[in-house]
Amino acid sequence: MSAKIIDGKAFAADVRGRVAEQVARLKADHGITPGLAVVLVGEDPASQVYVRNKGKQTVEAGMTSFEHKLGDTTPEADLLALVEKLNADPAVHGILVQLPLPDHIDEAKVLATIDPAKDVDGFHISNVGLLATGQKALVPCTPLGCLMMLRDHHGSLSGLNAVVVGRSNIVGKPMAQLLLRDSCTVTIAHSRTKDLAAVCRGADILVAAVGRPQMIPGDWVKPGATVIDVGINRIPAPEKGEGKTRLVGDVDFDSAVEVAGAITPVPGGVGPMTIACLLANTLTACCRAAGLPEPEGLTA
Ligand code: NDP
Repeated sequence: MSAKIIDGKAFAADVRGRVAEQVARLKADHGITPGLAVVLVGEDPASQVYVRNKGKQTVEAGMTSFEHKLGDTTPEADLLALVEKLNADPAVHGILVQLPLPDHIDEAKVLATIDPAKDVDGFHISNVGLLATGQKALVPCTPLGCLMMLRDHHGSLSGLNAVVVGRSNIVGKPMAQLLLRDSCTVTIAHSRTKDLAAVCRGADILVAAVGRPQMIPGDWVKPGATVIDVGINRIPAPEKGEGKTRLVGDVDFDSAVEVAGAITPVPGGVGPMTIACLLANTLTACCRAAGLPEPEGLTA
């Protein structure tokens, strides 16, 4: 059997299209344009590419993009003052401070300063608590993207056994909360889990968010299970030439695709959904700020 490949690129394009439609309606009916502010501190090349892509896709969705690029020696107090200014700006509905921040800046302090209603990354402790208690929150983008793909594939997730491998605050834990909210029976596995293979084999839904290349082989996958591979790992690819690399996930795709019912590839699976969900969260934050109904099919 060969699994259905879940095309994250196409799915993300569809999400962005739906966001753009609802943004156009918001403008036409209410004269409101959602705005996303992205703050980048320092010169990290990967972050620069990521921020550029975010800005481009924000504008393509019909939203306003505000970019703030600060030098890597920017004092923490200046960054906090900028966040406060964005909190107070009614044209800004979403604020994202690109991580990681330089060592002299306290990341937790910065995230805590963002207005929870504008926290489109969903990392503020208020949003974490709201999600954990089943209330309306802004939810971290990567797990939200995984949830959308799972709902699309399964319809209802109720009663399914879900195993999330990884317990980070940005992927594993919120993913588990979201699956629980959709009435899955959820197991969170991590580096101390005993007999991880057996735990994974019990999963109808297996989410891998570990950061270890191809760690989960096909024989850990229950036949017919849905596999969501969040991992992004770069490994040597001598077949492409000396010094070349390629991206792989945390799942050994070639063996897992033979067993699973559906699987996300790397690249082209979960990755593209992250920015699409950032746009969805910005639209959601904007609708909530204006007291309007939330965008349909774009929230947790
Ligand atoms: P973290 O390093 O923060 O967390 C990794 C988790 O994996 C930890 O909970 C750790 O357990 C667990 N783990 C490590 N080794 C093992 C093991 N041998 N067996 C079982 N569990 C293990 O990573 P992130 O959550 O930030 O990211 C995970 C992956 O997802 C990375 O590859 C990252 O690049 C990717 N990612 C992709 C995104 C996207 O847009 N597609 C967005 C964010 C991340 P413990 O807690 O016990 O140490």
